[in-house]
Amino acid sequence: MAQSGTLTVSNASIAYGKDKSAVDGVDLSLSCGTVTALLGPSGSGKSTLLRAIAGLEALDGGEIGFAGEVWSETGQHKPPEARRCGVVFQDYALFPNLNALDNVSFGLNRLPRPERRKRAQQELDGVELGHRAKAFPHELSGGEQQRVALARALATDPDVMLLDEPFSGLDRRLRNELRDTTARALKDSGAATLIVTHDAEEALSLADTIALMTDGKIIQVGAPDTLYLKPTSLAAARLLGDVEYFDGDVIDGHLQTPLGAFDARAIGNATKARALIRPEGIAVGAGSSGGVAATIVERRLAGGHARLSCALETGNVVQARVELTNRVDVGARVQLSVDAHFVSVVTAGSAAS
Ligand code: ADP
Repeated sequence: MAQSGTLTVSNASIAYGKDKSAVDGVDLSLSCGTVTALLGPSGSGKSTLLRAIAGLEALDGGEIGFAGEVWSETGQHKPPEARRCGVVFQDYALFPNLNALDNVSFGLNRLPRPERRKRAQQELDGVELGHRAKAFPHELSGGEQQRVALARALATDPDVMLLDEPFSGLDRRLRNELRDTTARALKDSGAATLIVTHDAEEALSLADTIALMTDGKIIQVGAPDTLYLKPTSLAAARLLGDVEYFDGDVIDGHLQTPLGAFDARAIGNATKARALIRPEGIAVGAGSSGGVAATIVERRLAGGHARLSCALETGNVVQARVELTNRVDVGARVQLSVDAHFVSVVTAGSAAS
């Protein structure tokens, strides 16, 4: 089991060229026993940050440390092998000439040989692959290869586990199955874990904490449901799913929108504000149910739900997500009402919103 402690990234920056930093003043804390997802679009700097924590990239500014010990700062750089860090790369990076057991035991060279094999076998059992110990990478499916890579990284009992898009090469069904095994193995390890992903669903289902990254910066950190329901900016909201938004001035502690007035007391009067509304929070009722009148202009299936495009009398069109059994069809006159749990009112107009 990993020791207790926290990996701390403070004001970390990495610039490949002169113009723009790939990682730009990032602060992040990862505690042992917790899983953090680093979620952001392609090119936002996620892998660069992961590589910096692993010691594969030097910092141009700031600091990375674990439990009070400096790992990276300008002019000082602990080599990767001196960090108690396990890494699962996107392509798994297994040794093609070694079987699964030997891949896992590779990093255990400090142990005597019989002990090494026993430990490697335990790690393979831990990811439900004990029976494939003799198989070579080319004989394993993508999902099995991922689990061997996970077992290899966990075998050294790291304090910090880093996974770069660990499910990206796999089909959706397999991904869902693997997520559970991976989440369990990571929890059992007690390591401070960072999973880099561009997949919101993956981040929401796997992580205790999500850090949202765009343009080299962390824009919000929090528990998955808090981030989903109370994003602090449109950019953060969009990283986690569909969102409707309306801008306006705060008057008497409220922001008036075409979908009704929302509490904006946390934002000063006469300030420009923005209401961010998740589609699941928009209930679609019968024509007489009370609410905001709308007409359904489109109905599409999305996952296990129906997505309804609803035209308001103001001319705005909003998306609502309803159960498939809610059989409202195109042309139906309906009433929309919004559940305030799915609304986040934030200050608008700033660069961050
Ligand atoms: P992500 O993992 O979020 O897709 P990356 O960390 O890979 O993002 O990349 C962040 C930015 O840094 C991108 O603009 C990318 O082009 C640039 N970058 C990444 N690695 C290098 C490199 N070795 N040399 C130059 N630029 C790089």
